[in-house]
This record gives sequence, C-alpha cells and structure tokens, in this order.
Amino acid sequence: MRAAPRDNVAMPQILPLDDRSIAIAAEHIRAGRLVAFPTETVYGVGGDATNGEAVAAIFEAKGRPRFNPLIVHVPDMIAARRIGDFDKRAEELASRFWPGPLTLVVRRRADNGISELACTGLDTLAIRMPAHRGARTFLAEANRPLAAPSANRSGKVSPTTAQHVAEELGDAVALILDGGPCEVGLESTVLDMSGEEPVLLRPGGVPLEELEEALGRKIAVAKAGVTVVSPGMLESHYAPGLPLRMNAKKAEAGEALLGFGPAPDATLNLSETGNLREAAANLFAHLRSLDRPDFAAIAVMPIPEQGLGRAINDRLRRAAAPRG
Ligand code: AMP
Ligand code: MG
Repeated sequence: MRAAPRDNVAMPQILPLDDRSIAIAAEHIRAGRLVAFPTETVYGVGGDATNGEAVAAIFEAKGRPRFNPLIVHVPDMIAARRIGDFDKRAEELASRFWPGPLTLVVRRRADNGISELACTGLDTLAIRMPAHRGARTFLAEANRPLAAPSANRSGKVSPTTAQHVAEELGDAVALILDGGPCEVGLESTVLDMSGEEPVLLRPGGVPLEELEEALGRKIAVAKAGVTVVSPGMLESHYAPGLPLRMNAKKAEAGEALLGFGPAPDATLNLSETGNLREAAANLFAHLRSLDRPDFAAIAVMPIPEQGLGRAINDRLRRAAAPRG
C-alpha cells in the first residue's frame, strides 16, 4: 500500500531528468541540500557524503529512529578508489558487476573526506556505482560522493517513482529528478568484502550465485536482524571504549564532558546552539576524539528525544549499555 501524502507537507519541485535539471540538482548538492534521484534499483535521497549536516538531513528526512551506515554512490572507479580500499577481489567484483545493483563494503581510506555520520564511525564504507545513466551523470556533475539511502520514510517501502518520493519525503528534498519508474525495483545486493571472508549482508539485484561464481567460492550469509560479526572482528557498529554516561549536567572528576547547547565547561560540544543536525554531524567524530585514556569516562549532556535527537540518544544508549 502506498502512503497518502502527509498533511501539511509541501510538495517538492519535480523536474524531468535532463542536462538542465541535473545541473540544478548538482548545485543543490554543493549547497548542502538534498536531491532525490532515480537509480536502476529504487529512488535514492542523496546528499553530499563529505558534508556531515547534509548527511544528518538525510536521516532527518527519512525519520529514522537510529543511525545506520549509508551507501555512498560514485560515478566511476576513480571516485570509488579515492574513498575506499579495493583489494584484488573487490576490484574484480567491481569490474564485473559495476555499474550495477551491487554495493561493496570495503575498508575506508583514511582522510577520504567522508563524514563520520555517513559510515557511523565504522572503518568500512559501503560503495556503489549505479547503472542508471542519468544517476551517473548527476554523480559526475555533483563532483562529490553522494550518501543515498532509499527515498522513503523509515519503515515504508522503497519508492520506484518520483511521485512516490514526493509523497514520502515532501519538501525535505530540494528537488526530485524524475527519470520514470525504476527498472530493477529491488535494492542493491550488499556484499561485505572488508574482512577475510566475503559476507552477504543483504540480498538484492545481483543474485548470490553470480557473486559466488565470480569469486569462485561460497559466500556466508549474514542472518537478518542480527548484528553482523565478521570472523574475528568486533561488532559492526562503532562504540567508544570508555564508559559513557548520559543526561549528565556536569562532568565528574576524570570525565570528559560532551556538551549540547551552551556549556562553557564542555570538553567538546555537539552543538553550542543546540542544533540537532549539527549535533548528529559531530556525534561520531566527537566520540572518537574523546575516547582516549586520559579520561575515565565520557559524560554526555541531555539531548532532547525528538527528531534527530532520537537517533542520537539511541546510539548513546547503546554505547552506554554495559558490555560483556
Ligand atoms: P539503504 O540505506 O536502504 O540503502 O541500505 C543500506 C544497507 O547497507 C544497509 O543494509 C546497511 O546496513 C548496509 N551498510 C552500509 N554501510 C555499511 C558498512 N560500512 N558495513 C556494513 N553494512 C553497511
Ligand atoms: Mg531502504
């Protein structure tokens, strides 16, 4: 069932996908705004992956109650190699299946400019080169990697038409590029190539058998709903090594204070003005920089449980939970 348009949500601009609308869309991206665009799988809501606040706006538009790592889209292999480490196997898969509905998770290159929020602080990055010609022209024109999950509200089906996107996201996007209905309608297959063993994280447009044939081996399948634990690796989400204390008014002795809103005593501040988008953009980078042995713990000031604050608090709660 398709969702009815939400009340009081203005309809975004929709333009047929062509050179002119792509130029406008690229301008929006460079200005930090969001653009929905078609790929061969589903419509994506894209933002500059190197701009933390643009990435935060994506989570906000989708109304996701938690942060999950986003797929970063690139127009060509040169752009892909700039942000991710492709070993021989990953190169082979890319040359065989790209452009196309395959997302490869590879190790992230240091200083690749990708916002910590896009990969939720992980050392890995999910990358895809879409087959859709218009999408690739747009990516090349934007001239930066785009974080782009499916352009639906959290918990709803992935949109395959521009009209469907408009109903889902309203004016949270500056522009929708209308390229007609998507061809595949299935999401991309997500294959984790960052560890010793390849692991299928999500089935999708490229069948598992084709990947196994290309790699000449069986591929392990991650169980749905289970946090992926690659052999010998930590859980696949980032949490600081130090204990974390939420809803702190001030720091106790030895604690680092992660501020939100005006806080002269904060060691670092997620957003001095209390802006949730800015706070989301800073969350993982700030946790990482406070996570060092000169502190005994990280105390975090209260974050309102609304909008992006929900996803921020979700992440903090999981970081604060005792680990066994
Ligand atoms: P969507 O947001 O609908 O495009 O889906 C993105 C998919 O890629 C989700 O299943 C994510 O969990 C997965 N994903 C993205 N980045 C990573 C990563 N670095 N490691 C593991 N899975 C990832
Ligand atoms: Mg989705």
